[in-house]
Amino acid sequence: MPDLKRCSRCVLPETYETIEFDDNGVCNICRQQKIKQEKVNWTARKKQLDELIERYRGKHDYDCLVPFSGGKDSTYTLAYLIREYKIKPLVVRFDHGFMRPKLEEYTAKTLRFLGVDAIRFTPNWRIVRKLMLESLVRKGDFCWHCHTGIFSFPMHIAIKFNVPLIFWGEPSAEYTNYYDYSEDDVEMVDEKRFNRFVNLGINAEDMFGMINSEDDPVDPRDLIPYTYPKMKDLRKLGYHSVCLGSYIPWNVKENVKYFQKFLPWWQGDEVEGIPFDRYPYEKIECYMQGLRDYIKYIKRGYSRASQMATLDIRHGRMSRDEALEMIKRYEGKKPHALPIFLDYLGITEDEFNEICIKTAVPPYEHDFDSSSEYGNKPKDFDQCYREKDGVPR
Ligand SMILES: [Zn+2]
Repeated sequence: MPDLKRCSRCVLPETYETIEFDDNGVCNICRQQKIKQEKVNWTARKKQLDELIERYRGKHDYDCLVPFSGGKDSTYTLAYLIREYKIKPLVVRFDHGFMRPKLEEYTAKTLRFLGVDAIRFTPNWRIVRKLMLESLVRKGDFCWHCHTGIFSFPMHIAIKFNVPLIFWGEPSAEYTNYYDYSEDDVEMVDEKRFNRFVNLGINAEDMFGMINSEDDPVDPRDLIPYTYPKMKDLRKLGYHSVCLGSYIPWNVKENVKYFQKFLPWWQGDEVEGIPFDRYPYEKIECYMQGLRDYIKYIKRGYSRASQMATLDIRHGRMSRDEALEMIKRYEGKKPHALPIFLDYLGITEDEFNEICIKTAVPPYEHDFDSSSEYGNKPKDFDQCYREKDGVPR
């Protein structure tokens, strides 16, 4: 385990985004959590939610729009709104290209059982590959297409179908300090938030300039799914885009228990880099999750095990020592997604390492010899889509 300063309460390291420590070595995310538990008037927030839903109910073809991956947060959001409010939602799925078989199975069953209209959108894979390489090289994060597509595409659908109320799941204050839980200040999921921490500081127009070339031209329209809609169109719609978790307390374990009572087929899946028995339902929606976490490790010296442990400590489910033990065992292992990904992009592992190391956050310095061993391999990884030199295998 790398030698980094960690929060004296929750083990988050000094390389964590937006982190600051107080005189007792406690981080600002831990202190924020205290505000959430002690200061937010959840009864008043719930009343706001009731009013919000009634304000839009029955006024359009759908009462609201729910962006949906099929993972734990969007499944909870959809299930909760239907169960508690009997609303009629339009479900929108942005397919980032790496949906796993179990997730697809859960989604098919859930959408049928709940009885909802759903739209699935799968963007051009040839463009996705270009976007992944470009954003990896520029930002050390290959998921630009996913971050931007997930947040902007459903907004285009909201405009096209004239559905002004949009419900996302988890508020960002749960993990970072970009927004907080202070009274009456409900986080809007809008363009400001999109530019602030969704699009990695690259808008679609700039991205077009980066991936378009004479030898391999790109059509500017290929970038539309990743472009936030025009403000005048959103204003005309009268949009109201919020997180359900801004109105009701967000406790992931409780949320999963809630919807498993009537969606019992949803049983999570194994993910690379974290113990399945402890976290069966964390980030099951993407084959590339383990690779994302591995890049984070190369950059910042920690990955998902640290983040999960932090939540468990905060909720009183794990001791700090147990957390450090788990981190040692699971973090910094090579993911099985890596060779698959290298084939998609047509780069070697050395080239990949070189790209990632450039975005390192000091004081962490990654030593690749320490991460030469592969981690746990989920069962479905042999079924993952493979290609070589741009041709499916
Ligand atoms: Zn902390």
